[in-house]
Amino acid sequence: MTALVRAEGVHKSFGDLQVLKGIDLEVADGEVLCLLGPSGSGKSTFLRCINHLEQISRGRIWVGDQVIGYEPRGGKLHELGERSVARQRQSVGMVFQRFNLFPHLTALENVIEGPVQVKRETKATAVARAEELLTRVGLADKRDAYPRQLSGGQQQRVAIARALAMEPSLLLFDEPTSALDPELVGEVLEVMKDLAKSGLTMIVVTHEIGFAREVADRVAFMDAGAIVEIGAPGAVLDHPEHPRTQAFLQRVL
Ligand code: ADP
Ligand code: MG
Repeated sequence: MTALVRAEGVHKSFGDLQVLKGIDLEVADGEVLCLLGPSGSGKSTFLRCINHLEQISRGRIWVGDQVIGYEPRGGKLHELGERSVARQRQSVGMVFQRFNLFPHLTALENVIEGPVQVKRETKATAVARAEELLTRVGLADKRDAYPRQLSGGQQQRVAIARALAMEPSLLLFDEPTSALDPELVGEVLEVMKDLAKSGLTMIVVTHEIGFAREVADRVAFMDAGAIVEIGAPGAVLDHPEHPRTQAFLQRVL
């Protein structure tokens, strides 16, 4: 197994509040890991640390051969400057609970924004790929629609296309369907299922147990800033060993 993501002893505090208390985790290239756990257990914080939105207090995170937030120079690791952070971030995409589209840009313009502004692609190249991606998420006919003209499920699919446009090696999802009306959840999960099948490496924070069971290679359960249980979906979801996992699943199932 080649690990694409490797977290070692990851700690994160906000002032006196210890939120992550030593996360050790490896995610293989092409693996889909679903991360479950009660509200406040640190799931979002962990994803945000992988994606440079938070700086960890202790430990290390690798994505591929990159150490998040650092670069090797003269045999030592140095904290990255702002521009290098932007470069490193490109390899990790993130899809949020609230879709965070630019409201004044159309679906297509949202998708080409990163490739043109950050990756300096030509507009023609970016548009061609954006059209492919919008087709892939089932929104070819919505390319010129503004976010307010789209349903929540459609907006979230544009957000997924936008993340894919940067050609990330890793895609993080933070409760991507939690803000959606129930009837719109399925269309977003279908797109995610399709991505999983295509071999993209994904870490998905979700309460959708059915999705985790069907799509995840492994499921991890997080509680109070630590991963207390991890394994095959059938094991963790149907035969949880840890009392906290058992209690959590009884509540959500
Ligand atoms: P989850 O996603 O599992 O619900 P979070 O990672 O959002 O958990 O939050 C874990 C804990 O960290 C919570 O107690 C939350 O209030 C706290 N927290 C998250 N972000 C910040 C922040 N920027 N400043 C202070 N506390 C924070
Ligand atoms: Mg969260």
